[in-house]
Amino acid sequence: MKKQFAVIGLGRFGISVSTELYKLGHDVLAIDINESKVNEIVNDSTHSAVGDGTDEKTMRSLGITNFDHVIVAIGDDIQASTLCTLLLKEMGIDSVWVKAQNYYHHKVLDKIGADKIIHPEHDMGNRIAQHLVSEKVIDY
Ligand code: ATP
Repeated sequence: MKKQFAVIGLGRFGISVSTELYKLGHDVLAIDINESKVNEIVNDSTHSAVGDGTDEKTMRSLGITNFDHVIVAIGDDIQASTLCTLLLKEMGIDSVWVKAQNYYHHKVLDKIGADKIIHPEHDMGNRIAQHLVSEKVIDY
């Protein structure tokens, strides 16, 4: 079934998540504060918009509350990522998944109600290691 996703922050991680969700046939609204990032995703998203994820007015005007799932993929700016997550939870969004930068960021995200906290490099390292020792390694 088609789902509605919004991705805020279009670094490598955000672009990759948005593109894959769109390829899988879902509706994707891709948002970044930087216009050139938004231009990169125009053909691989349902809608794209320039906007600040920490600005409640902007988020409401983009209809963020209509989305089932929001992914916060803001990277280096931990303050922006945290504030954006807090706003989304306060606005009542059910499922907010957030990319964490480090352990302290993780702890704060957990406290403010992030539904899933992702550490892409760590998670991918684990998966690769498991894959290497699994039988599937014979496939390579
Ligand atoms: P990656 O490893 O996925 O490339 P990164 O950790 O290097 O990501 P950044 O490049 O710091 O992450 O941030 C990801 C994106 O988030 C950038 O494109 C940046 O413009 C965007 N971004 C930063 N602050 C905001 C904000 N307040 N609202 C929306 N987008 C933002």
